[in-house]
Amino acid sequence: MLTDFGTHPADRVPKAELHAHLEGTIHPPVLRMLADRNGIDLPEGVLDADDNYLWTDFNDFLKIYDMAASIIRTPRDYYDLTLDYLGRVAAEGGLYVEILTSPDHVFDLGMGLQDQLDAVVEAIDHARAQFGVETRISQTIVRHYGLERSLAAADAIAAHPHPYVTGFQMAGAEDAYRPGDFRPAYDIAVQAGLRCTAHTGEWLGPASIRETLEALPMVERLGHGVRAIHDPALVAELAERRIPFEVCPGSNVALSVFESPEQHALRGLWEAGCVITLASDDPPYFHTSLGAEYRFAMDVAGLSVADLFDITRNALNAGFMDAGTRESLLQRVEAEAEAEANA
Ligand SMILES: [Zn+2]
Repeated sequence: MLTDFGTHPADRVPKAELHAHLEGTIHPPVLRMLADRNGIDLPEGVLDADDNYLWTDFNDFLKIYDMAASIIRTPRDYYDLTLDYLGRVAAEGGLYVEILTSPDHVFDLGMGLQDQLDAVVEAIDHARAQFGVETRISQTIVRHYGLERSLAAADAIAAHPHPYVTGFQMAGAEDAYRPGDFRPAYDIAVQAGLRCTAHTGEWLGPASIRETLEALPMVERLGHGVRAIHDPALVAELAERRIPFEVCPGSNVALSVFESPEQHALRGLWEAGCVITLASDDPPYFHTSLGAEYRFAMDVAGLSVADLFDITRNALNAGFMDAGTRESLLQRVEAEAEAEANA
Protein backbone atom coordinates (compact mmCIF):
# COMPACT_ATOMS: atom_id res chain seq x y z
CA MET A 1 0.00 0.00 0.00
CA LEU A 2 1.39 3.35 -1.02
CA THR A 3 1.96 5.69 1.92
CA ASP A 4 2.21 8.71 -0.41
CA PHE A 5 -0.85 7.90 -2.49
CA GLY A 6 -2.10 10.93 -4.39
CA THR A 7 1.31 12.37 -5.23
CA HIS A 8 1.83 10.59 -8.57
CA PRO A 9 -0.06 11.10 -11.85
CA ALA A 10 -0.80 7.34 -12.05
CA ASP A 11 -2.70 7.62 -8.77
CA ARG A 12 -5.50 9.54 -10.52
CA VAL A 13 -6.30 6.64 -12.85
CA PRO A 14 -9.17 4.31 -11.86
CA LYS A 15 -7.82 0.78 -11.69
CA ALA A 16 -8.83 -2.83 -12.16
CA GLU A 17 -6.90 -6.05 -11.57
CA LEU A 18 -7.61 -9.57 -12.76
CA HIS A 19 -5.01 -11.46 -10.72
CA ALA A 20 -4.75 -11.25 -6.91
CA HIS A 21 -4.41 -14.48 -4.90
CA LEU A 22 -6.64 -14.04 -1.85
CA GLU A 23 -4.33 -15.83 0.59
CA GLY A 24 -1.44 -13.84 -0.91
CA THR A 25 -3.05 -10.47 -0.16
CA ILE A 26 -3.03 -10.75 3.64
CA HIS A 27 -1.72 -7.52 5.11
CA PRO A 28 0.87 -8.43 7.80
CA PRO A 29 -1.00 -6.63 10.64
CA VAL A 30 -4.12 -8.59 9.66
CA LEU A 31 -2.12 -11.83 9.73
CA ARG A 32 -0.94 -10.99 13.25
CA MET A 33 -4.50 -10.16 14.28
CA LEU A 34 -5.77 -13.52 12.91
CA ALA A 35 -2.98 -15.45 14.65
CA ASP A 36 -3.83 -13.67 17.89
CA ARG A 37 -7.56 -14.27 17.58
CA ASN A 38 -7.03 -17.93 16.74
CA GLY A 39 -4.58 -18.40 19.60
CA ILE A 40 -1.79 -19.49 17.26
CA ASP A 41 1.85 -18.49 17.49
CA LEU A 42 2.86 -17.05 14.14
CA PRO A 43 5.51 -19.52 12.89
CA GLU A 44 9.09 -18.29 13.11
CA GLY A 45 10.34 -16.85 9.85
CA VAL A 46 7.05 -15.72 8.31
CA LEU A 47 7.26 -12.01 9.19
CA ASP A 48 10.21 -9.91 10.32
CA ALA A 49 10.02 -7.29 13.09
CA ASP A 50 9.00 -4.64 10.53
CA ASP A 51 6.11 -6.77 9.27
CA ASN A 52 7.72 -7.84 6.00
CA TYR A 53 7.06 -11.34 4.71
CA LEU A 54 10.34 -13.25 4.75
CA TRP A 55 11.28 -15.45 1.81
CA THR A 56 14.39 -16.04 -0.27
CA ASP A 57 13.43 -17.64 -3.59
CA PHE A 58 10.36 -19.00 -5.36
CA ASN A 59 10.24 -22.30 -3.49
CA ASP A 60 10.72 -20.54 -0.19
CA PHE A 61 8.02 -18.06 -1.17
CA LEU A 62 5.58 -20.96 -1.71
CA LYS A 63 6.54 -22.40 1.68
CA ILE A 64 6.06 -19.12 3.57
CA TYR A 65 2.82 -18.50 1.65
CA ASP A 66 1.40 -21.82 2.87
CA MET A 67 2.64 -21.19 6.42
CA ALA A 68 0.96 -17.78 6.49
CA ALA A 69 -2.24 -19.16 4.91
CA SER A 70 -2.40 -21.83 7.63
CA ILE A 71 -3.16 -19.06 10.16
CA ILE A 72 -6.61 -18.74 8.57
CA ARG A 73 -8.98 -20.92 10.57
CA THR A 74 -12.53 -19.67 10.25
CA PRO A 75 -14.89 -18.22 7.64
CA ARG A 76 -14.78 -15.00 9.68
CA ASP A 77 -11.02 -14.86 9.01
CA TYR A 78 -11.75 -15.04 5.28
CA TYR A 79 -14.35 -12.31 5.66
CA ASP A 80 -11.91 -10.01 7.46
CA LEU A 81 -8.94 -10.50 5.14
CA THR A 82 -11.10 -10.14 2.03
CA LEU A 83 -12.76 -6.94 3.22
CA ASP A 84 -9.40 -5.54 4.33
CA TYR A 85 -7.79 -6.22 0.96
CA LEU A 86 -10.66 -4.80 -1.09
CA GLY A 87 -10.62 -1.67 1.06
CA ARG A 88 -6.92 -1.21 0.42
CA VAL A 89 -7.31 -1.64 -3.37
CA ALA A 90 -10.22 0.80 -3.39
CA ALA A 91 -8.11 3.34 -1.46
CA GLU A 92 -5.73 3.33 -4.44
CA GLY A 93 -8.50 3.85 -6.98
CA GLY A 94 -9.42 0.21 -7.56
CA LEU A 95 -12.88 -0.28 -9.12
CA TYR A 96 -12.69 -3.98 -9.90
CA VAL A 97 -10.77 -6.98 -8.59
CA GLU A 98 -10.70 -10.65 -9.51
CA ILE A 99 -9.57 -12.57 -6.47
CA LEU A 100 -8.11 -16.03 -6.90
CA THR A 101 -9.04 -18.59 -4.30
CA SER A 102 -8.12 -22.26 -4.20
CA PRO A 103 -10.43 -24.94 -2.76
CA ASP A 104 -7.33 -26.99 -1.90
CA HIS A 105 -6.21 -24.31 0.57
CA VAL A 106 -9.71 -24.26 2.06
CA PHE A 107 -9.80 -28.06 2.40
CA ASP A 108 -6.32 -28.04 3.99
CA LEU A 109 -7.73 -25.67 6.64
CA GLY A 110 -10.50 -28.15 7.35
CA MET A 111 -13.13 -25.65 6.26
CA GLY A 112 -16.15 -26.30 4.08
CA LEU A 113 -16.05 -24.65 0.67
CA GLN A 114 -19.57 -23.28 1.06
CA ASP A 115 -18.68 -21.65 4.40
CA GLN A 116 -15.59 -20.04 2.91
CA LEU A 117 -17.53 -18.90 -0.16
CA ASP A 118 -20.34 -17.39 1.95
CA ALA A 119 -17.79 -15.40 3.97
CA VAL A 120 -15.96 -14.10 0.89
CA VAL A 121 -19.25 -13.21 -0.82
CA GLU A 122 -20.38 -11.26 2.25
CA ALA A 123 -17.08 -9.35 2.26
CA ILE A 124 -17.51 -8.59 -1.45
CA ASP A 125 -20.99 -7.19 -0.82
CA HIS A 126 -19.79 -5.09 2.10
CA ALA A 127 -16.76 -3.86 0.11
CA ARG A 128 -19.07 -2.74 -2.69
CA ALA A 129 -21.27 -0.85 -0.21
CA GLN A 130 -18.39 0.67 1.77
CA PHE A 131 -15.73 1.30 -0.87
CA GLY A 132 -17.49 1.10 -4.25
CA VAL A 133 -15.27 -1.74 -5.46
CA GLU A 134 -16.69 -4.64 -7.49
CA THR A 135 -15.22 -8.13 -7.17
CA ARG A 136 -15.44 -11.53 -8.82
CA ILE A 137 -13.89 -14.83 -7.79
CA SER A 138 -11.66 -17.02 -9.93
CA GLN A 139 -11.36 -20.56 -8.58
CA THR A 140 -7.91 -22.05 -8.86
CA ILE A 141 -6.43 -25.53 -9.07
CA VAL A 142 -2.81 -26.06 -8.01
CA ARG A 143 -0.72 -27.89 -10.63
CA HIS A 144 1.84 -29.41 -8.31
CA TYR A 145 -0.88 -30.99 -6.14
CA GLY A 146 -1.39 -33.41 -9.01
CA LEU A 147 -4.13 -34.49 -11.37
CA GLU A 148 -6.32 -36.32 -8.90
CA ARG A 149 -6.59 -33.28 -6.62
CA SER A 150 -7.16 -31.00 -9.61
CA LEU A 151 -10.19 -33.08 -10.59
CA ALA A 152 -11.50 -33.18 -7.03
CA ALA A 153 -11.10 -29.40 -6.76
CA ALA A 154 -12.83 -28.86 -10.13
CA ASP A 155 -15.72 -31.08 -9.04
CA ALA A 156 -16.03 -29.15 -5.76
CA ILE A 157 -15.96 -25.85 -7.65
CA ALA A 158 -18.69 -27.03 -10.03
CA ALA A 159 -20.78 -28.15 -7.05
CA HIS A 160 -20.57 -24.69 -5.43
CA PRO A 161 -21.84 -22.21 -8.01
CA HIS A 162 -22.38 -18.54 -7.18
CA PRO A 163 -22.95 -15.51 -9.43
CA TYR A 164 -19.63 -14.05 -8.17
CA VAL A 165 -17.69 -17.21 -9.01
CA THR A 166 -17.05 -16.57 -12.68
CA GLY A 167 -13.50 -17.75 -13.38
CA PHE A 168 -11.36 -20.87 -13.29
CA GLN A 169 -7.65 -21.39 -13.73
CA MET A 170 -4.54 -23.33 -12.84
CA ALA A 171 -1.66 -21.98 -10.74
CA GLY A 172 1.29 -23.50 -8.91
CA ALA A 173 4.50 -24.93 -10.35
CA GLU A 174 4.39 -24.44 -14.12
CA ASP A 175 6.59 -27.47 -14.75
CA ALA A 176 4.26 -29.84 -12.88
CA TYR A 177 2.63 -32.09 -15.52
CA ARG A 178 1.71 -30.77 -18.97
CA PRO A 179 -1.03 -28.20 -19.60
CA GLY A 180 -3.11 -30.78 -21.49
CA ASP A 181 -3.12 -33.05 -18.44
CA PHE A 182 -5.47 -30.54 -16.80
CA ARG A 183 -7.94 -30.60 -19.70
CA PRO A 184 -10.43 -32.79 -17.78
CA ALA A 185 -10.50 -30.26 -14.90
CA TYR A 186 -10.96 -27.39 -17.35
CA ASP A 187 -13.76 -29.28 -19.08
CA ILE A 188 -15.58 -29.57 -15.75
CA ALA A 189 -15.20 -25.82 -15.22
CA VAL A 190 -16.48 -24.97 -18.70
CA GLN A 191 -19.42 -27.31 -18.15
CA ALA A 192 -20.15 -25.36 -14.95
CA GLY A 193 -20.28 -22.12 -16.94
CA LEU A 194 -16.94 -20.69 -15.82
CA ARG A 195 -14.59 -18.68 -18.01
CA CYS A 196 -10.95 -19.68 -18.03
CA THR A 197 -7.47 -18.34 -17.71
CA ALA A 198 -4.17 -20.03 -16.76
CA HIS A 199 -0.85 -19.21 -15.17
CA THR A 200 1.60 -19.61 -18.02
CA GLY A 201 4.74 -17.97 -19.31
CA GLU A 202 5.84 -16.76 -15.90
CA TRP A 203 8.54 -19.40 -15.34
CA LEU A 204 8.52 -21.38 -18.57
CA GLY A 205 9.06 -19.81 -21.95
CA PRO A 206 7.14 -19.21 -25.17
CA ALA A 207 6.77 -22.92 -26.05
CA SER A 208 4.82 -23.46 -22.85
CA ILE A 209 2.45 -20.58 -23.65
CA ARG A 210 1.80 -22.07 -27.10
CA GLU A 211 1.25 -25.50 -25.57
CA THR A 212 -1.20 -24.09 -23.00
CA LEU A 213 -3.29 -22.32 -25.63
CA GLU A 214 -3.34 -25.36 -27.90
CA ALA A 215 -4.11 -27.94 -25.22
CA LEU A 216 -6.59 -25.72 -23.37
CA PRO A 217 -8.49 -23.77 -26.06
CA MET A 218 -10.95 -22.49 -23.45
CA VAL A 219 -8.18 -20.35 -21.91
CA GLU A 220 -9.05 -16.75 -22.77
CA ARG A 221 -6.30 -14.86 -20.93
CA LEU A 222 -2.69 -15.39 -19.87
CA GLY A 223 -1.83 -15.32 -16.16
CA HIS A 224 1.49 -13.48 -16.52
CA GLY A 225 2.47 -14.65 -20.03
CA VAL A 226 5.39 -12.22 -19.88
CA ARG A 227 8.02 -14.69 -21.11
CA ALA A 228 6.31 -14.51 -24.50
CA ILE A 229 8.61 -11.53 -25.01
CA HIS A 230 11.43 -13.95 -25.93
CA ASP A 231 9.55 -15.00 -29.08
CA PRO A 232 8.55 -12.05 -31.31
CA ALA A 233 6.40 -14.27 -33.54
CA LEU A 234 4.39 -15.40 -30.51
CA VAL A 235 4.05 -11.82 -29.28
CA ALA A 236 2.72 -10.80 -32.70
CA GLU A 237 0.28 -13.70 -32.68
CA LEU A 238 -1.00 -12.90 -29.17
CA ALA A 239 -1.43 -9.25 -30.13
CA GLU A 240 -3.28 -10.26 -33.30
CA ARG A 241 -5.56 -12.66 -31.39
CA ARG A 242 -6.23 -9.98 -28.75
CA ILE A 243 -5.44 -12.37 -25.89
CA PRO A 244 -5.22 -10.32 -22.68
CA PHE A 245 -2.16 -10.56 -20.43
CA GLU A 246 -2.45 -10.39 -16.64
CA VAL A 247 0.88 -8.62 -16.07
CA CYS A 248 2.21 -8.43 -12.51
CA PRO A 249 5.46 -6.42 -12.68
CA GLY A 250 6.12 -6.20 -8.93
CA SER A 251 5.87 -9.97 -8.60
CA ASN A 252 8.08 -10.59 -11.63
CA VAL A 253 10.75 -8.18 -10.38
CA ALA A 254 10.70 -9.57 -6.82
CA LEU A 255 10.95 -13.15 -8.08
CA SER A 256 13.65 -12.24 -10.65
CA VAL A 257 11.66 -13.35 -13.69
CA PHE A 258 13.57 -10.49 -15.34
CA GLU A 259 17.04 -9.38 -14.36
CA SER A 260 16.05 -5.80 -13.62
CA PRO A 261 12.88 -3.69 -13.60
CA GLU A 262 14.08 -2.02 -16.81
CA GLN A 263 14.24 -5.39 -18.54
CA HIS A 264 10.65 -6.25 -17.68
CA ALA A 265 8.54 -7.27 -20.70
CA LEU A 266 5.76 -4.71 -20.13
CA ARG A 267 7.20 -2.06 -22.45
CA GLY A 268 7.91 -4.53 -25.25
CA LEU A 269 4.51 -6.21 -25.07
CA TRP A 270 2.79 -2.83 -24.99
CA GLU A 271 4.71 -1.59 -28.03
CA ALA A 272 3.84 -4.78 -29.90
CA GLY A 273 0.15 -3.98 -29.42
CA CYS A 274 -0.67 -6.70 -26.88
CA VAL A 275 -3.76 -6.37 -24.68
CA ILE A 276 -2.20 -5.50 -21.32
CA THR A 277 -3.80 -5.48 -17.90
CA LEU A 278 -1.95 -4.89 -14.60
CA ALA A 279 -2.28 -6.80 -11.33
CA SER A 280 -0.48 -7.22 -8.03
CA ASP A 281 -0.46 -11.07 -7.65
CA ASP A 282 0.52 -11.40 -3.93
CA PRO A 283 1.08 -7.74 -3.07
CA PRO A 284 2.53 -7.70 0.48
CA TYR A 285 4.97 -10.49 -0.39
CA PHE A 286 6.38 -8.41 -3.22
CA HIS A 287 6.18 -4.98 -1.56
CA THR A 288 3.70 -3.89 -4.14
CA SER A 289 0.07 -2.85 -4.60
CA LEU A 290 -2.17 -2.19 -7.56
CA GLY A 291 -1.33 1.51 -7.27
CA ALA A 292 2.38 0.70 -7.34
CA GLU A 293 1.93 -1.43 -10.47
CA TYR A 294 0.31 1.50 -12.28
CA ARG A 295 3.19 3.75 -11.17
CA PHE A 296 5.68 1.16 -12.46
CA ALA A 297 3.98 1.23 -15.87
CA MET A 298 4.63 4.98 -16.08
CA ASP A 299 7.97 5.32 -14.32
CA VAL A 300 9.75 2.23 -15.62
CA ALA A 301 7.87 1.15 -18.75
CA GLY A 302 7.26 4.71 -19.95
CA LEU A 303 3.50 4.53 -20.40
CA SER A 304 1.32 7.65 -20.21
CA VAL A 305 -1.71 8.43 -18.07
CA ALA A 306 -3.85 7.91 -21.19
CA ASP A 307 -2.23 4.48 -21.66
CA LEU A 308 -3.11 3.60 -18.08
CA PHE A 309 -6.75 4.46 -18.72
CA ASP A 310 -6.61 2.01 -21.65
CA ILE A 311 -5.10 -0.64 -19.38
CA THR A 312 -8.06 -0.29 -17.02
CA ARG A 313 -10.48 -0.49 -19.96
CA ASN A 314 -8.65 -3.64 -21.11
CA ALA A 315 -9.07 -5.22 -17.69
CA LEU A 316 -12.77 -4.40 -17.53
CA ASN A 317 -13.34 -5.72 -21.06
CA ALA A 318 -11.39 -8.91 -20.25
CA GLY A 319 -12.90 -9.35 -16.78
CA PHE A 320 -15.14 -12.32 -16.15
CA MET A 321 -18.30 -10.36 -15.27
CA ASP A 322 -21.78 -9.83 -16.64
CA ALA A 323 -22.48 -7.18 -19.26
CA GLY A 324 -24.38 -4.86 -16.91
CA THR A 325 -21.58 -4.75 -14.35
CA ARG A 326 -19.01 -4.17 -17.09
CA GLU A 327 -21.05 -1.35 -18.58
CA SER A 328 -21.44 0.49 -15.28
CA LEU A 329 -17.73 0.12 -14.42
CA LEU A 330 -16.69 1.34 -17.87
CA GLN A 331 -18.97 4.35 -17.41
CA ARG A 332 -17.16 5.21 -14.19
CA VAL A 333 -13.83 5.01 -16.05
CA GLU A 334 -15.11 7.25 -18.85
CA ALA A 335 -16.35 9.82 -16.33
CA GLU A 336 -12.87 9.89 -14.76
CA ALA A 337 -11.21 10.04 -18.19
CA GLU A 338 -13.33 13.07 -19.06
CA ALA A 339 -12.46 14.77 -15.77
CA GLU A 340 -8.78 14.03 -16.44
CA ALA A 341 -9.01 15.51 -19.96
CA ASN A 342 -10.62 18.68 -18.58
CA ALA A 343 -8.17 19.03 -15.67
ZN1 LIG B 1 -0.48 -15.70 -9.69
